[in-house]
Amino acid sequence: MNNYKHILTESGSKLDKFKFDGELGAIYSKESTEFRLWSPIASCVKLRLFTTGSDAEAGASVIGTYEMTKNHQTGVWSYTVQGDLNGIYYTYLVSHPQMGERETGDIYAKAAGVNGNRSMVIDLDTTDPEGWDKDERILFDRPTDAIIWEVQVRDFSYCESSGVSKKHRGKFLAFTEKGTTLNCDGINPTCVDYLKELGINCVQINPFYDFGSIDEASDAEQYNWGYDPKNYNLPEGSFSTDPYKGDVRIRECKQMIQALHNAGIAVVMDVVYNHTYSGYGSWFDISVPGYYYRYNQDGFWSNGSGCGNDTASEHEMYRKFMIDSIMYWAKEYHLDGFRFDLMGLHDVVTMNGIRNALNTLPEGEKILMYGEAWDMFTACEPGTIMANQHNMHHLPDNVGAFCDNIRDAIKGSEFDQHSCGFVQNGSRRNDVFRGVRADTDFWARTPAQAVNYASCHDGRTMYDKLCLSVFRNNVQYNLRHENVIRMNKLAAAIMLTSQGIPFMVAGEEMARTKLGDHNSYKSASCINRIDWERTVKYKDLVDYYKGLIKLRKAFAPMRDNTTNSIQKGMWLFTENPTGVGYTLEGEVYGKTRKMLLLFNGATHTESFDLTSHGLEGWWDAVVDSENAGTDFLGEYSRVINVPATSAMLLVEQDKITP
Ligand code: CA
Repeated sequence: MNNYKHILTESGSKLDKFKFDGELGAIYSKESTEFRLWSPIASCVKLRLFTTGSDAEAGASVIGTYEMTKNHQTGVWSYTVQGDLNGIYYTYLVSHPQMGERETGDIYAKAAGVNGNRSMVIDLDTTDPEGWDKDERILFDRPTDAIIWEVQVRDFSYCESSGVSKKHRGKFLAFTEKGTTLNCDGINPTCVDYLKELGINCVQINPFYDFGSIDEASDAEQYNWGYDPKNYNLPEGSFSTDPYKGDVRIRECKQMIQALHNAGIAVVMDVVYNHTYSGYGSWFDISVPGYYYRYNQDGFWSNGSGCGNDTASEHEMYRKFMIDSIMYWAKEYHLDGFRFDLMGLHDVVTMNGIRNALNTLPEGEKILMYGEAWDMFTACEPGTIMANQHNMHHLPDNVGAFCDNIRDAIKGSEFDQHSCGFVQNGSRRNDVFRGVRADTDFWARTPAQAVNYASCHDGRTMYDKLCLSVFRNNVQYNLRHENVIRMNKLAAAIMLTSQGIPFMVAGEEMARTKLGDHNSYKSASCINRIDWERTVKYKDLVDYYKGLIKLRKAFAPMRDNTTNSIQKGMWLFTENPTGVGYTLEGEVYGKTRKMLLLFNGATHTESFDLTSHGLEGWWDAVVDSENAGTDFLGEYSRVINVPATSAMLLVEQDKITP
């Protein structure tokens, strides 16, 4: 059913008056479990209990069907079952005058059976791995201290070259394996050990809530990124070693997070509250038809997400659902941050509600929050202020947004496959300079609001995009192209030294290729997987990233979360049309010093004349076209010649006192 016009006369925001503040879902204790479902317009709701998560399993049977009681003031249906129900599966049969009786899982389910079709009652204490009570969040004093590496669970360890044991490849538990090396060579670290050497301090993990696009009951080769939520409050079954037992995926997901924390790495969860796997027939649709989604005037589903349905964060009970869901993950799974897919489809009241709720946790204001603040069309209620870049002033400094300006300025627009940016030909230098200032002259109030990136899971990989723009119609993605590697290094130097929060997709630092695939969300695993061989084949590139990360950690001014460093800095070299050069001042090696950051996107040498800008004395290079880090690479003064397609970063020498 695609048209909801007949239902909207009694649903939608009209039901906001029934807003219920209490707990919903299966409220478990060893003595009894109370089931609560909010549905003001249902004519009847029944609870069904099962022994298994599906009828295909041994011992499958219906335990019973029970009529629930409605509270007419709150619209909440409830029923209490005595006894210890841990591991019992359940659904609701919801009757609606115009939709008939339909069976649904619980939108608040914390556990579920295979494919998430039946919810499960869970005693969460039994899902904690050993040492979980000592597990602590990895939090940053400033969001700009985070250096984020974005990865998908399956991609991380799908390859045999990952050195991960066969049974854990592509699973949560791959993250728990220590001492993994390339093809088990005992030399070149992979997976979490590799990340520790690389130096990143935060991973953003693509969707790992339960999504609908993978058949968890099948052993066939399947792949999907997972931007199609089915059960928001429980992990995906295909990443677990047993999708049938509802507790296993929870425990193994916690083990993944624990292992990353033990490695000193924060975990940001990629959350997709803006749409669901299906609109019609989803748990939300069956529970309260017409309420949780946005519909156009004609009664058809709003589709700003491009995924067939937009949820309605401005409706009180979906807003509450989002806040409850985030708080559940933050508390139960000890998560360190959240990345909001298509945040521009949510409203600022909801995003502020989430922020304020997280802030109530110990050091909760340090939990990362950022998202895709694109300006999107959606059929929201009139007067709703959406969480897009134009409205960042409605959000606090610790809610950030991806910066598409610096992404496109660095390497050209993703939407025009042959387009070039600064690193290919020195073009768009004004946009790069805008980006190194964290777009604070535009939409971001402070650098803490700007997530700087040049590539992410969407679009082509950095290497593929650069190859395509350079070679156009004759691209050999599998080969190493030295000019492209130089461009990649320059891009990394800009991204990792700019004001803001640096972000890269996994493998950007090893010239990851998807052979030109620009939207691999359901492409084969062999296209999406990380090929760990590349850590050796492109070792120079990996080392360059490693050095830049080390540099960023050492040089505090790069991580300023205020605009102070930007205000002190200046755009120097206006006479260099294909270069970006600027100074940055702040504490370096225990002293206040100037740094000089010079980027040349042209295919010829650019000379930066320091003397014409009153920059005297000698400068120590720590980054050049080949090397990056904190080691001394040579001293310079007066005029600095930066070779084609490269960066140079220099630190002011100590003044010699006479
Ligand atoms: Ca699933």
